[in-house]
Amino acid sequence: MHTAGDVRVEDRDDPEIIEPTDAVIRLTATCVCGSDLWPYRGIEPADHTLMGHEYVGVVEEVGSEVRTVKAGDFVVGSFVISDNTCEICRSGYQSGCVHRAFVAGTIGTQAEKARIPYADGTLVATPGQPDEDLIPSLLAASDVLGTGWYGAVAAEAGPGKTVAVVGDGAVGLMAVLAAKQLGAERIIAMSRHPERQKLARYYGATDIIEERGDAGVAKIKELTGGLGAHSVVEAVGTRESTMQAIGATRPGGHMGFVGVNYDVHIPGFELFLAGIHMEGGPAPVRRFLPELIQLIWDRKIDPGKVFDLELPLEQAAEAYKAMDERRAIKALLRP
Ligand SMILES: [Zn+2]
Repeated sequence: MHTAGDVRVEDRDDPEIIEPTDAVIRLTATCVCGSDLWPYRGIEPADHTLMGHEYVGVVEEVGSEVRTVKAGDFVVGSFVISDNTCEICRSGYQSGCVHRAFVAGTIGTQAEKARIPYADGTLVATPGQPDEDLIPSLLAASDVLGTGWYGAVAAEAGPGKTVAVVGDGAVGLMAVLAAKQLGAERIIAMSRHPERQKLARYYGATDIIEERGDAGVAKIKELTGGLGAHSVVEAVGTRESTMQAIGATRPGGHMGFVGVNYDVHIPGFELFLAGIHMEGGPAPVRRFLPELIQLIWDRKIDPGKVFDLELPLEQAAEAYKAMDERRAIKALLRP
């Protein structure tokens, strides 16, 4: 991304193994993330930035110390590089690894090839070569599914719980899927977009709320006997959506916040009065990858439906444009 709104596909040198813990992969599929729209819209700076952080592909070469993946393996990687061995990783928070690096901006997986550091700690091999129709779902596991899943886990979605999801982008829809898998009794999706409402229902939403802000909070309270939801997933990252999520969570309830935050200022007194549990941030996707890959492999979940546009990598600029204009929920790119 040369600058805001200016995405170009250009030739770069092929990546090579540098550290003995590296792998070089050839990408089978990649995609555009909702968070890529922040620099695209000029909210975050972009200056010849290497874009892309979601990826699946085939390992071409590994460094001498890589043990768990080998050349020829089909792999899914997290959008955060992690060693998966430090104390933070072992506690399940790989996105806070002491060797953390964000794939976006430093590696950029909207590309044909990528060098992945800490391959053992970042990549997970699938049980075999996937059928073509599983590729979008495996790609979703790399970020949006893993992130929506973390949002639902952080919000303690589970049996007997009412879960509300703020945000109808890919992550919000994946949080609906996750809440359903985790056994939630009632799942409320907040969306005013007919196509996204349809997909939310497909993934398990039992109720749809179109109102936003205070009106959205009032509607959730109305549906929950005035109490608010047990579990709320915030999957947008704006001030309005954050306050809506806090307001929709019942006292003692749990809110998972996984929308990339920009310029969100929470009035301390409102937070204090809410009396809720909050957990969030960049999702430790690596924690969930083995389980999510297996669910996809066994065709128990179908997250790939969030991709409603597929283009060759050369047309990346059009993929950004379609998502920016909300003509597409999520665009898959084929290198
Ligand atoms: Zn670590």
